[in-house]
Amino acid sequence: MPETTLQDANAIADQLVAWRRHLHAHPEISGQEEQTARYIADELERMGYETERRIGDTHGLTANLRVNDRPALALRADFDALPIQEENEVEYASRNAGAMHACGHDAHTAMLLGAAAILKEKKDQLRRSVRFVFQPCEEAYPGGAAPMIAGGVLNNVDAIFGIHISSQLQPGELGTRAGAIMSAVNDFGITIHGKGGHAAMPEQCADPIVAAAHVIVALQTITSRSISITDSAVVSVTRINAGTADNVLPESVALRGTIRNLDETVRKHVCKRVKEIAETTALALGTRAEVEIEPGYPVVINDAKAVEQAFAAARLVGFDERKLLPIPPIGGGEDFAYYLQKVPGAFVFLGAGNTDKQCHYPHHHPRFNIDEDMLPWGTALHVQYALSRGA
Ligand SMILES: [Zn+2]
Ligand SMILES: [Zn+2]
Repeated sequence: MPETTLQDANAIADQLVAWRRHLHAHPEISGQEEQTARYIADELERMGYETERRIGDTHGLTANLRVNDRPALALRADFDALPIQEENEVEYASRNAGAMHACGHDAHTAMLLGAAAILKEKKDQLRRSVRFVFQPCEEAYPGGAAPMIAGGVLNNVDAIFGIHISSQLQPGELGTRAGAIMSAVNDFGITIHGKGGHAAMPEQCADPIVAAAHVIVALQTITSRSISITDSAVVSVTRINAGTADNVLPESVALRGTIRNLDETVRKHVCKRVKEIAETTALALGTRAEVEIEPGYPVVINDAKAVEQAFAAARLVGFDERKLLPIPPIGGGEDFAYYLQKVPGAFVFLGAGNTDKQCHYPHHHPRFNIDEDMLPWGTALHVQYALSRGA
């Protein structure tokens, strides 16, 4: 009787926790993951893999498990941390001040290292080669995925699979959906130039504060008046900066914010509307708006067949059918989107939130933590997804 993938993963559970805790204690923020990359590469080489490092001039690396010349499956984990001061009081808490694995990328890396270890022993059961993709810099646009793709990481790859831990799903739950699963991101800056002066003589000025207030209100009409019932968008103004004194009208007001979409056409339309509304509203009030729309990650779009394969693999691992959840799209962005623009694949969310273990804080929170009991489940899912791939 062959062992199940979950039994295989459970057999290395201590190692999975050790990897995760080492990474958790030594976080490096996006773009600075030199030690982390070295640690991962050393662990892979200890397993007998050859690694290719610094792909696309990033800290990203890969290892290959080659079984034939046919296109390979890529399994991806990201490994950058966030500029957050950790507030968890655990022995494996961050030892790098101001840096923290507050999104679970430490777990992603540990789970994929585990899959690399197990699949190495099961090479004769694979019908397709596997490429393990360890990616840096997910948290900071322009991200690590695009330069790694430019560096050839998807050469002779025809499918990709990735897991993100979720503290908002419970242990045993696996959530994903076909189509858009995570949103496109655009940030924007609007500077409203007026004419400053004495606040007691507004007729001699062009007040950018009143203009900014109108612009902010008018921007709310994008989602309420410019978007169809079947589409969705978020436009949030998140920062306002202006003024130095109670009796002075400032020269200008700086606004910043973010735009989220689940469709590229809607995305373009919303960006266009932000620019039009800001410029014309400001003009109507005697001021001038300068609008800068900054690009971010595109929509993460799962392939329907790959999602079915992910759920099928999850059933074989032992996930309860009732906990395979067709979740709605998530407002966050992910540079996994770039891989999915090149090859079909699936991005799934593995539940690791657990109130009893204080693992219920949202991602990017200084007390974010995960239920480590889910690490073997993630490893087993990677392994099963690779093993289930047809010839
Ligand atoms: Zn994150
Ligand atoms: Zn993340």
